[in-house]
Amino acid sequence: MTGKRRIVVTSALPYANGDIHIGHLVEYLQTDFWVRFQKMRGNECLYICADDTHGTPIMVRARKEGVSPEALIERSHAAHLKDFTDFQVSFDSYYSTNAPENRELSERFYLAAEKKGFISRKTSPQLYCEHCSMFLPDRFVKGACPKCGAPGQYGDSCDKCGATYGAEELGSPVCTTCGATPALKDSEHLYFELEPQRDYLEKWIPGHTTDDISNKLLEWFGEPLRGWCISRDEPYFGFEIPGCKGKYFYVWVDAPIGYIASLANWCSRNGRKLSDYWPDGEGAETSGAEIYHFIGKDIIRFHCLFWPGMLHAAGFKGPEKVFVHGFLTVNGEKMSKSKGTFVTARTYLDNLPPEALRYYYAAKLGGTADDMDLNLDDFVQRVNSDLVGKITNIASRSAQMLHRKLDGRLGALDGEGAELVAKCRDAGEAVAALYEDRRFNLAMVEISRLADAANAYFDKKEPWKTVKTDAETTRATLTAALNAFRIVAIYLKPVLPAYADKAMKLFGETEWTWNSAAKTVENTALGEYEYLASRIDPKQVEAMISAAAEKPADSGEVAHESRASKNKAKKDEPAEAAAEAAPLKQEIAFGDFDKLDFRIGVVESCETVPKSTKLLKFVLDAGSLGKRTIFSGIRAAYPDPAALVGKEVVFVANLAPRKMSVGVSEGMILFAGEPGVGGGVLSPSSPAGGGRQVT
Ligand SMILES: [Zn+2]
Ligand SMILES: [Zn+2]
Repeated sequence: MTGKRRIVVTSALPYANGDIHIGHLVEYLQTDFWVRFQKMRGNECLYICADDTHGTPIMVRARKEGVSPEALIERSHAAHLKDFTDFQVSFDSYYSTNAPENRELSERFYLAAEKKGFISRKTSPQLYCEHCSMFLPDRFVKGACPKCGAPGQYGDSCDKCGATYGAEELGSPVCTTCGATPALKDSEHLYFELEPQRDYLEKWIPGHTTDDISNKLLEWFGEPLRGWCISRDEPYFGFEIPGCKGKYFYVWVDAPIGYIASLANWCSRNGRKLSDYWPDGEGAETSGAEIYHFIGKDIIRFHCLFWPGMLHAAGFKGPEKVFVHGFLTVNGEKMSKSKGTFVTARTYLDNLPPEALRYYYAAKLGGTADDMDLNLDDFVQRVNSDLVGKITNIASRSAQMLHRKLDGRLGALDGEGAELVAKCRDAGEAVAALYEDRRFNLAMVEISRLADAANAYFDKKEPWKTVKTDAETTRATLTAALNAFRIVAIYLKPVLPAYADKAMKLFGETEWTWNSAAKTVENTALGEYEYLASRIDPKQVEAMISAAAEKPADSGEVAHESRASKNKAKKDEPAEAAAEAAPLKQEIAFGDFDKLDFRIGVVESCETVPKSTKLLKFVLDAGSLGKRTIFSGIRAAYPDPAALVGKEVVFVANLAPRKMSVGVSEGMILFAGEPGVGGGVLSPSSPAGGGRQVT
């Protein structure tokens, strides 16, 4: 080993608008394997991450839930951190982008770029909704495709013909929040220009990521590099741009800066200087820590083009390498909500042990940008045969025999036993090199080979026979098998930290580093054998899939570009609830349906409810049924509730009255879509009259 390295490692920041799922874990687990490996090698290595908290989706969702964005992101920070902790992902700092350090750094980055003349301003007409008092991001407006005329298309591209265009080109545009027709209004935006840094970036990109990624990026250098729009109009949840009232940093500006902010926060909590880890100014490139980013292949543009450009403009050190991985597929297909393969971290943990997924991902990840498949049958089979049947089996049968028949005392290695242990020990540097290169799959193969050797040794020595006639030979056999297992468990520790900790206690030790493999544990009492890993029952997997089909990962998730499960959606998009149909509820008999009494009600009044950000209070004129007061949680859909007065709506008239904190609700108004995103109350296409039955 060379001298102690100082290393800073990041994973892409999970977006606060959604649950952590098994696709995300592809990234966090491999980063965790690598960080834990570096720590075991004696390097100073920090795993830095944070919740990515800004942008329109957070704002819209908070509004919809009737909470402040701050409360929303706080809740999601706690939930994310719990998921990661339970998966044994160990961050040194898990911070938030909505933090004072990040605001200060974002302003610094911007002002430095502006001073260098890298910021330009362009005015262009954009769709503005008078009703919502906001400029509409692409995914907040729908209309007819300017190319093929298909209705109901978003403001950036057409689902029918695949055309891409500007939102202002849509025919008959409609605000998806309120349904009003937006108008064009001039807005000035700020652009971070890359062209002035062309030479720097063209030189920087190769050597800082893999050749295939670098070649792809360099294709863009055949023409002038386009400036990157870094501003968004208010209302926006984020940081206001200094000197530009009403303009906010686009979430993708302050997200990567969040890496530095999170590290800065760690430094101040631990009495360290940021400049010793992530330096800026003179000599920055040759001082500080080695910096590595783990990212999914969908965000290379941000991390290998904009980000090095931003860092360079502000005089901060650039990353050593950007490690790019592929997406997760399940059983060879894209993760799917209806198939129950869109599994949240929590749903997984409710049904299966974290070690199993950690082990399986390690066995599949080879440090490339290829997609990775979680084949559920293979998952069960591999965990059961390799981790349980092969590796754990050495410890369980040796330790149990030693305890039962030989007073639980380890002896000394004999000649053949010493050979086995030496073989395991000698593989250490090869396994380490594979970890260093993030070829976790090959490291697991190597480890599994050592376990094979230990099992073959055990079977050949037949201790279950010799124990009846020759206690000391048997003791030597078991001592060798257990020492071989010990080394295997040390090599597995980056992937299976909790498992390795239990194994370590078996040998009465308190800390395992990579060098611990050099030691032989002899002539001492073996600790109590603690259960290390259990077989997976395919029923557990089935239970997980059906639970996930019932409660798939939060669709707020679509609002992130950087996730390991392929998702075309951008951060400035609302939750796309209708994108994948909700699974069908259980079939009902006609009799069940016939019990429902739908009626028409004419809205007599509709108003907001004090202290509630979700509810609207309706009074309906239901003809012969009289007046009905109904509270409905659709306020986000109607910023101007009075506009509904006179409208005919469909409601369930025979629902038992429900007592709510604000009053008694006498029925349920039907609403299609998602309040705050799209849709509206159901209404007959021509007047039917209050009280009329809907059949
Ligand atoms: Zn089209
Ligand atoms: Zn609107």
